[in-house]
Amino acid sequence: MVGEPNAMSRYVRLRLSETFKFKCVRCDMCCGTGPNVSLTGYDVVRMAKFLQMSWKSFLRAYVNVIVADIFVFMSIRGEHGKCPFLHYKPSGETLCVVYPARPLRCRLYPLVVESVKPSHVYLDSFCPGVGKGGEKRPPERLVKHYVWELKTYYSRLTKLVLEEGLEPLQALENLLEALWSESEEKPDWANLDYIESLGAT
Ligand code: SF4
Ligand code: SF4
Repeated sequence: MVGEPNAMSRYVRLRLSETFKFKCVRCDMCCGTGPNVSLTGYDVVRMAKFLQMSWKSFLRAYVNVIVADIFVFMSIRGEHGKCPFLHYKPSGETLCVVYPARPLRCRLYPLVVESVKPSHVYLDSFCPGVGKGGEKRPPERLVKHYVWELKTYYSRLTKLVLEEGLEPLQALENLLEALWSESEEKPDWANLDYIESLGAT
C-alpha cells in the first residue's frame, strides 16, 4: 500500500502496481473549488458532442484559452468559483452533468498524471476520500490511454506551431476542426463506451 505524503508535497508518488485506499465521499472539493481542469482537444470534442454543441460554442461557453508565448492551453472556466458542470440534486448530493464525457483528468482524480512515462502517477493526499474504502490499484488502461491523448494532442499542436508556423490560436482551431471531423469516423477515443471500459479511479 502507498505510504504517507512527505511534508513537502500533497502528492504521493505511486507506482501503477501499488495499491491505495480511496472512496469518493462526494464532498465536492475537487469540482467546487476551482476548477483547475486542463483539457485536451479530445476532451473538448467528447464534451461538446455529449452536450450537442459545436466545439466553437463549447469553447465560448466553458473554456479558458490561454496563450503563453507560442503555446496555447485550455482549461474549464470556473463559474462562481466552481466547475460549471457541477450541479446539486435536491438532496444536496453532487452531480456532474457531463459525467460520461467528463475530462480524463476528472476520471483519474485523485490520481494525477504528470509525465508521459506511465510507470507511476501521483495521489492527491488532500482529497478527503483518500484513505477510505477498499484497496485499489491505479486504472492502468486509463492512465495509458490518457498519456496517449496527451502525447498525440500536444505533439500535433506543437507541430502546427513550430513546423507549419501557425499562430497558437489558429493552430488550436485547425486541430479542433481536424479532431471533430476525425471523431465522425468513430475512433475509440470518441466512443464513450470505450472510454468507460478503461475504468476510472
Ligand atoms: S474525488 Fe475526492 S475531493 Fe472529489 S468529491 Fe470525491 S472525495 Fe471529494
Ligand atoms: S467536469 Fe464534472 S467531474 Fe470534472 S470538475 Fe466539472 S463537475 Fe467535476
